Amino acid sequence: MSQNPFQIGIVGAVPSGCYVADALARKIPDAHIDIIDRLPTPFGLVRGGVAPDHQGTKNIARQFERTLGKAGLRFLGNVSVGRDLSYEELKSAYDILVIAVGAMEDRKLGIPGETLDAVYGSGQFVAWYNGIPDGRDLAPLLDGKSVAIIGNGNVALDIARLLGKTPAELATSDLCAHARDAFEAANIEDIWLIGRRGPLEASFTTAELTEFGELSRVATRVDPAQLPPDCPGDMSADQRKIAEKNLDVLRAYAARGEQNERPLRIHFVFNAAPVEILGESRARELVLEKTRTENGKAVASGETFKIPADTVISAIGYRSTPFPDLPFDAARGIVASAQGRVEPGVYTAGWCKRGPQGVVPANRADSLAVAELILADFATHDTPCKPGGAMIDALLAERGARPVDFAGWQKINAAEVAAGEGRPREKLVGIEELLAAARS
Ligand code: NAP
Repeated sequence: MSQNPFQIGIVGAVPSGCYVADALARKIPDAHIDIIDRLPTPFGLVRGGVAPDHQGTKNIARQFERTLGKAGLRFLGNVSVGRDLSYEELKSAYDILVIAVGAMEDRKLGIPGETLDAVYGSGQFVAWYNGIPDGRDLAPLLDGKSVAIIGNGNVALDIARLLGKTPAELATSDLCAHARDAFEAANIEDIWLIGRRGPLEASFTTAELTEFGELSRVATRVDPAQLPPDCPGDMSADQRKIAEKNLDVLRAYAARGEQNERPLRIHFVFNAAPVEILGESRARELVLEKTRTENGKAVASGETFKIPADTVISAIGYRSTPFPDLPFDAARGIVASAQGRVEPGVYTAGWCKRGPQGVVPANRADSLAVAELILADFATHDTPCKPGGAMIDALLAERGARPVDFAGWQKINAAEVAAGEGRPREKLVGIEELLAAARS
């Protein structure tokens, strides 16, 4: 290993980026590490993706705070690759560059009607309610009685649950003020949760499914005819464990019957693939095709039906957004790499490496593996030190960029928590407001 300090750049102050930074800081104590993020705020999905009513999940941010506060490590927020710095410049500046930019671009349904008004991707919708600055102006149309959410993952369940909660049930969340107002003004009566395969193949988890039963104004509707009597014998033990628990919860919902006194119904509709969104200028109906699951795949039946859908939200997964010159696998929507090696000195970690799968702690193991890969590659190299942060600072100054450092983030954090008034925080959602708070 070189006697000179390694200059390490990590693009993305997201969980995977923080885990890699922490691992490298422990193993190379004299390294200089810059964590760069396009937003003035760190922690990626913990702030901008995790549901605002799942505050327990967000506690992991404390661990990432400790990482960002380590000696030798700098947070450079509000620095965008492609706008303030180029990929080539980052490679020139750092001995080790790690790309951990996550995956927040919505996958497309690829059906007619997808471009109508009142049709949104979950990435857009979640960014809006979680106050990501470039998502805050979405102003989604929630003015009808019926919302269809396509997808059977936890993101679909998060959205349905938040729409189903009363203001009192949202009082302990950090849902942004603009979203609270919009949810309160909405008069939704039916939310349809659409799975193209059956309940056994759903990717949501039991804890999230169970939460529907706790919502005071929601009747959860499940058609018992859609629930299989048992799990098939060829299921792996792990899959079976989850599927059986999910089936138990769904059976309990099915047994509840009509619950007609509740003002809002959430309907689970399985084995229904989206075919077309109908409406003149905005969504009004969703056409679905009945399917059956064969060998784990949805097989179309040719039989279609319609549900009312004044708003359609597709929650069918994400892609990463490449910046110029970054080797990118466009078909899979991830950074092109061999187990995390992008090109000499460049690595990738997290959702942009392996696709949008797994909860925050699942990124840890993957990030530690990437850190080990980096250490193995550099153990035998006497790499000449690159200029690191000094070069980056000069470029940012030349371009009039306005980076936010860790102390700036701490000021934003304090301002938001103070504005919370009983809530965990009231998020600042505009770039200028965030920069003003960082400089206060
Ligand atoms: P996901 O779990 O991959 O679910 C995506 C869903 O979209 C699947 O039901 C999939 O069905 C469906 N889908 C994909 N393409 C479709 C199409 N063309 N038409 C209809 N349906 C389609 O993704 P996610 O919900 O975005 O979640 C991403 C990750 O974040 C997951 O690992 C999730 O567990 C995690 N997460 C966790 C939490 C939590 O722990 N509370 C909360 C949010 C997210 P098929 O299965 O048939 O492909």
